[in-house]
Amino acid sequence: MNSKDVFYKEISKIVATRKTPYVIESGEGAYLTINGKQKLNLCSSHYLGLATDKRLKKAVIKAVEKYGIGTGYRTLAGTHVLHIELEKHLAQFKGAEAAIVLTGGYMANCAAIQTIIGKEDVVVSDSLNHASIIDAIRVSQVQNKFIYKHRDTKDLEKQLKEAAKIAKTKKSDGNYPSILIVTDGVFSMDGDLAPLPEMVALAKKYGALTMVDDAHGEGVLGRGGRGIVDHFNLHGQVDIEVGTLSKAFSVIGGFITGKKVLIDFYKQKARQFMFSNALTIPDTAAVLEGVKILEKSDALVRKLWDNTNYIKEQFGRLGFDTGNSETPITPVMLHDEELAKQFSLKLFEKGVFATPIVFPMVAKGAARIRVIPSASHSKKDLDFAVNMFKDVGCELGVLK
Ligand SMILES: *Cc1c(COP(=O)(O)O)cnc(C)c1O
Repeated sequence: MNSKDVFYKEISKIVATRKTPYVIESGEGAYLTINGKQKLNLCSSHYLGLATDKRLKKAVIKAVEKYGIGTGYRTLAGTHVLHIELEKHLAQFKGAEAAIVLTGGYMANCAAIQTIIGKEDVVVSDSLNHASIIDAIRVSQVQNKFIYKHRDTKDLEKQLKEAAKIAKTKKSDGNYPSILIVTDGVFSMDGDLAPLPEMVALAKKYGALTMVDDAHGEGVLGRGGRGIVDHFNLHGQVDIEVGTLSKAFSVIGGFITGKKVLIDFYKQKARQFMFSNALTIPDTAAVLEGVKILEKSDALVRKLWDNTNYIKEQFGRLGFDTGNSETPITPVMLHDEELAKQFSLKLFEKGVFATPIVFPMVAKGAARIRVIPSASHSKKDLDFAVNMFKDVGCELGVLK
């Protein structure tokens, strides 16, 4: 066998171990149709039910009729009035000076870090940060990486002290290295929050820049879903806020908010902005409508939290352990990997779609079913879910 044959043989082995994902035959609402059968959807991050919202559909149709579909490179002829309007609304919504929109949260993280951090700078990162932050740090090629224990502000300070030592030596361009502290806002497996106030205080002490990825926070935390910075009332004190338009906003895209000068710098320098096309007209119109809905009313956010509190209460009453979540992300802890997979399969047979989260997504022995209620669920839907969890819990001996 030559090396090409070996390559295909090796990847075939890996591909054979993968279970192909379900194919959804309906809209992504409270229920999903899979193989012609309805399943209660407890696993998407469409927190506010906007993926099938009538107002978004209408806004998209109207915009497409007026403007068509595609845009282009933002730096050439692709900057559309809808992009500018969306950036204005996102900045206002987040309580920031300015915003830049990209085609994904992943892209936004890469742009946010790579554009301002180089080889000789310093990054200080939470050990459980999202893969897109880890990759963003990699593409920046920064050499000095300090990882602090998950949400541990004592360890963060210890790492910052080391970082500060490095930052005392000038870089080859004659400037001092920047120190960037970066964290997820909401950690997507456990639903716990970054200790942002302590982080901001430490950043001040050590002269560091701060960045929070609010992918699971916007549309969820803060007043009317304005995100984690609003939740902690830290407006203007976090340098870089990254967001996604694919979770609560239910469309696609990502964005960065911050001081105007920083956002202008990103618009001038970010490779992910310069060398990749812009959001299309339908995407942009849909998100813009979503932001406008949240600006006007917190009804969906309140419904999301009502549902969250209700389902957590019900799980607790039955005796399930739902961890330390402070958000709608509700881990039903089962610990054993096989048990979690079995549990999810049995739920699926009973009409409830909730995914098992196992190693390597979480530590060994921390397997769970991750339940995400949304504003599109009714109390009846949640009661149905809880009853099925109860039945499967009894069948599998998780509940006594
Ligand atoms: C989902 C997610 C992303 C990626 O966002 P996309 O818009 O899907 O690319 C980035 N960071 C975190 C924390 C996420 O949960």
